This record gives sequence, structure tokens and C-alpha cells, in this order.
Amino acid sequence: MRVTSTAERRRTRQIVLRHPTHPVAVGGDAPISVQSMTITKTADVDGTLAQIYALHAAGADIVRCTCNEVEAAEGLARIVPRSPVPIVADIHHQYRRALEALEAGVHGLRLNPGNIRRPDHIKAVAQECKDRGVPVRIGVNGGSLDPALYDKHGGVTPEAMVESAEHELAMFAEVGFEDVKISVKASSVPLMIDAYRLLSERTDHPLHLGVTEAGPPPAGLIKATAGMGALLAEGIGDTIRYSLTADPVEEARAGRVLLEALGLRERTNVDLIACPSCGRAEIDVIEVARQAAEAFGDREIPLQIAVMGCVVNGPGEARDADLGIAAGRRKGHLFIRGRNVAVVPEDEMVPTLVRYAERIMDEGIGAVVAASDTDRAEREAEADRRALLDEQGSDANASEQRVDLIRKLDAEPT
Ligand code: SF4
Repeated sequence: MRVTSTAERRRTRQIVLRHPTHPVAVGGDAPISVQSMTITKTADVDGTLAQIYALHAAGADIVRCTCNEVEAAEGLARIVPRSPVPIVADIHHQYRRALEALEAGVHGLRLNPGNIRRPDHIKAVAQECKDRGVPVRIGVNGGSLDPALYDKHGGVTPEAMVESAEHELAMFAEVGFEDVKISVKASSVPLMIDAYRLLSERTDHPLHLGVTEAGPPPAGLIKATAGMGALLAEGIGDTIRYSLTADPVEEARAGRVLLEALGLRERTNVDLIACPSCGRAEIDVIEVARQAAEAFGDREIPLQIAVMGCVVNGPGEARDADLGIAAGRRKGHLFIRGRNVAVVPEDEMVPTLVRYAERIMDEGIGAVVAASDTDRAEREAEADRRALLDEQGSDANASEQRVDLIRKLDAEPT
């Protein structure tokens, strides 16, 4: 279901990463895919495979592994047949690693035009990719731009980055190879946005979005989301990667959540919402929300679930959530789409949410509401709401008292 006002997606040609059981198309009308990268040594086959499976479970459709040494290429030969998702080999300086990765059976390559510059090397790799039907990402990186382009453009500019990609594309075209997606990543968000905008005007190749070296969360998450979110909202981008200094599972999860938040990917996991807490909160909302996030993890429960700090405003503020719980007078008031359905002790709030989420998945929302004593639950919620309002008044944050004090202070002679 499409739920955003995101601009119509820019039409690109399509490439396919040909995994035998999980092929992933990128571009055209294919869903926008999420990528991540392993941080293990690729020669560590079991460790790398464990990370690939974890990334896949968190939402990655494609996983990239570095192929920086012969042992890594040998590792890829053992990893690729056991991977649940297409594997892309990341190649830096040595074109031989690209040929070895192709021999290992990888489903895609990433080449950095700033690092492999000899035309005969580039064309040899392109020819081999063409013969094997393996697509390539031309991965321009602002930090490793070809020095000649740096000098020509007076620095790392959108034009320099796009020219780097076009130069590589032209060499591929000489051997008739066009199975290509492109990225023009930079660590500066405005620079990468401008570079991708320019690139999308100049080519119909699918685009892989990313803010490179975004850094650790939360700043890294914000930078990457700002850059990729702005472009996706303009309809630019066919596949995305968060480059975070964190467990790569966080990258995959963030990619999935960004696409879900923009309505560009159907939700398969819990969308946990929670109030920010305030003077009315009857529980430690941050802690309960954390426990709920941990309890649901990456489980395939596509419901919006709310944790609200008080029964006075919580059920109303989260009335659109599929399921929620609001605290009040040491109780948890459970509600489904705004209707109170049960009351449980406060320390059972999170397990109750999980139990009801499972029931909704098994029986459907209508059946769970029908089987609940909604009248009793509503009566109890209303009683607690009134009691709290009597205790705290309608101004739980004591704003009016504070304003009175401020006025008194101001009126005192200096
Ligand atoms: S009024 Fe209640 S639900 Fe709203 S932020 Fe405060 S504690 Fe949370």
C-alpha cells in the first residue's frame, strides 16, 4: 500500500543480480532494494555467512563482501553457493580480484573508478562480466575521486563525480557492456544530493544511493537518512545502503525502516511507535518501549504497535495504531485501533502486547476485539483516566504554576 506523497519514481532501466533462488532486480519497476556489507574477513567463510544471514533477516536484499585478497576470493567461492541473497564483491585497487570474484560465482561487482584506472584492466573486467551476465556497480566515491578529475573541476564537485561515472560507462560501452548501476557517494549530504540529481538527469542506469562514511549513530543515521530520504522523496534511487560505523545489522534495519516509512516497501515487521513521555507519564516510557522493541525484534508481525505513557491521552493519541498499551495507576490498558480490550498489571504490559500481536496475526483484529470484554476494559480505562485527571488536573506538566512563578519572580523588585 502506498502511503506517502513521494514523487513518481524516476524510470530507470533494469539490471538483475542472478541469484538462483533469490534473484534481485534493480531499477525499472522493481521494488527499491536494501543493501548492506559484511565487516568480517571474507576468508572467514562461516563468520561471513553468519553475518549475511543476520543481514538478510534484518531486511537486506543484497549483501556486499570485500574481495581484497586471494583468500577473500577463495572464501567467496564457498560463500556464494550458501548465501540466501545475491553477493556483490567489492573491488578496490586490483582488477585481478574482480576476475577471481567472477570465477567464485558472485552475482555482482562493485568497481571504484578512482582506484582501477587502466583502460585495458577495466575493459577486461567489463568483458568478463558481459560474458557471464554479471552486473557491475560503478561506485564513485567523493573521497577517492580520480586526481585528474579533481584538478579539472577544482575539487570534489557533483560534475566531477558524474564525469567519473560517465568515463567508466564509456569504457564499458566499448566492449558493449551496459549491465550497470551507478553510485556517486560523498560524506557531505548536500554534495551527494546534488551529484545524484545531476546523474539522474544524465543517465537512465539504476542508481544506488548512499552517504559514504556517515559515521556512528545517531549522527550517521541522520545524515544518511537526510541524503537518501530527500532523493527517494524526489523519486530518485533504485537501491540503498546505509554506511554506518555500527553493527551492519543496524544498516540493513535502517534501510528497511526508511523504505517502509516512505511507503516504498511493504512493512513486514513491527512498526513500534511510542509517545515521547511527559509529566503525565505513569511509567518509564523509554524503558518500556525499549523492552517492547527487544521483545518484537525483527519478527514478521506487520502491525503498528504503540507504547503510551498514560491512559489519559495515550489511547486517543495512538488511536490509529493496530495495537497499543497505555499506563495508568499501575495498570496497562490495552487497546486495538483505539478500542480498549483488556487491563493487565503494569509489569505485564510488554508480554501482553506480544501475546495480543500474535493473536491478531492468527485470528485477525475483528475476532480478537469480538472476543474481548471491551465494555469492562473501557469502564476501567475511563475510571483511571478520571482519577488521574482529578489527581493531576488537566495540566500535568504544571505549566500554569510555573508561569505564575515566573511572573512572580519578574514582579519582584530588583
Ligand atoms: S500525555 Fe500521556 S501519552 Fe501523551 S506524551 Fe504525555 S505520557 Fe505520553
